[in-house]
Amino acid sequence: MNDTGSRYSIGEPDGTGRYPVAVDGHQAGHIYRWHRRWHAAAPGCKETQHEDRDLAAGQLVKLIEQGAVLAEGAPAQTPTLAAAGYVPQLSPRLQPTPGNIRHAAKALARLNELGWEPLEGYPGADNRWLMRCRLCEWVGTRWWSHLRGRNGDNRPRPSYRHDGCIPMVEQAGPEKLTRLVVTAQSCPCKVAHPTTADTAAALLKSVARARRAKDTTSLTADLTRLLGPCPAATVRAAAIDAALTAAKV
Ligand SMILES: [Zn+2]
Ligand SMILES: [Zn+2]
Repeated sequence: MNDTGSRYSIGEPDGTGRYPVAVDGHQAGHIYRWHRRWHAAAPGCKETQHEDRDLAAGQLVKLIEQGAVLAEGAPAQTPTLAAAGYVPQLSPRLQPTPGNIRHAAKALARLNELGWEPLEGYPGADNRWLMRCRLCEWVGTRWWSHLRGRNGDNRPRPSYRHDGCIPMVEQAGPEKLTRLVVTAQSCPCKVAHPTTADTAAALLKSVARARRAKDTTSLTADLTRLLGPCPAATVRAAAIDAALTAAKV
C-alpha cells in the first residue's frame, strides 16, 4: 500500500455507484468505476481517471493536501450526471454511433421485457445502470452485462433480481410480468418508431448526417424515434440490428 493508503477510507456506494471517500476522517469526494477506469471527483476539482480504486482514492488525498477541494457545503460538482445528452435513453457519455444506438435499443427492449424501468440513459455494458424494478418498485443499479444473458440464451443473470424482491416462486409465475410488460409487434405511436430494417436504416443515415452537420435538433428527433419508449421496442431493436448487419455486407 502506498503512503496515502492509510489516510483514506472508502465507504459504501450510493444508488448511482459512487463511493464516498473520507480523507483523514473528513469527506473529500467520491470515486466511481466507468469503463474499467476509476474516476476521482471532488468539489471544485477536475475529475481524473485512474487504474484502480486505490489510485483514485489516493488522488483525493493529494487534492486535500494541495487544498484544492472546496469545503463541505460548497456546491458539489456533478459533471457526469448533470451533463445533458441528446436523449434521456442514451448516456451523455456515449456518442450516438451506430454501434451505441444498436446496443442501447437492444438493452432498452430487453429491460422492458424483464420488467425493469431505466432511470438514466444506457451507459454501456460494463457500467452500473440506475433502474427501477417494476415488480416491487425497488430502485438501484444493475449491470446490463448481467441482465442480458450469455451466449444468446437470453437468461438474465443473476437469476434473482435484487435483494428483497418479491419471492422467486411468485416471479416464476409470469402473470405479474405479463401484466406489467406491454410488447407489441407493430408500433402504435403517433410519431412512428422504426420496426423494419428499411425505416431503421433511413433513420440511422439521418443520424449520421445530423452528427456531421452538428444539427442537434434533428439528432434529438431521430434518436427519440430510435430509442424512445415504444411498446414495439423489441421489434424495433431487431430492425436496427438488421439494418446495420445488412449495411456491413
Ligand atoms: Zn423487485
Ligand atoms: Zn412506437
